[in-house]
Amino acid sequence: MPLSIIAHPHPTLRVCSRPIRRVDAQRRQLVAEMLDLMYEADGVGLAANQVNLPLRLFVANPTGSREEGEELVLLNPEIQFPKGNETAQEGCLSLPGLYGNVKRPKSVRVSAYDLSGNSIETEVDGFLARVIQHENDHLNGVLFFDRMSEESKRDINDQIQELEMDFRSKQETGGIASDEVLLEQLNQWYDKYC
Ligand code: ZN
Repeated sequence: MPLSIIAHPHPTLRVCSRPIRRVDAQRRQLVAEMLDLMYEADGVGLAANQVNLPLRLFVANPTGSREEGEELVLLNPEIQFPKGNETAQEGCLSLPGLYGNVKRPKSVRVSAYDLSGNSIETEVDGFLARVIQHENDHLNGVLFFDRMSEESKRDINDQIQELEMDFRSKQETGGIASDEVLLEQLNQWYDKYC
């Protein structure tokens, strides 16, 4: 089945993703498809659990353009040494049309692996640091609005509720499976591939 981006409040967005223990052809194919989806959706980052595969992996390109900038594929990332603070607007491919201000550390150190198993150690700041922190949050089941102040969240609460009502009504009419079934499918997938 082709991959697609899942939307809030799909339960997979709230699970803690599992570490990747091996990279095979299937995982490489997954990364290629995730990059395609990210560019098609005009995004700057996409975590594996946003395509319903909760593995500790995300792709990013802060320019959002395949022809420009640096394409990042980070496996089992870890973020350390946060420095400073900065508030800026964020959006998310799993929360279409929603934007809000999020305060985050201005720079962080990232350790991860690339697809070839090489370790990556880098200090990032500014927009790239924001993208990486946003994507890393996904791996831990955290969405950007969780980090918004109550005050700024008030502006998008109605939109969040609309997304939730839309998802729940699709579940009621059978267009989307129930949370129990979705989580059971996830467990079966884990047993098979992790
Ligand atoms: Zn996101």
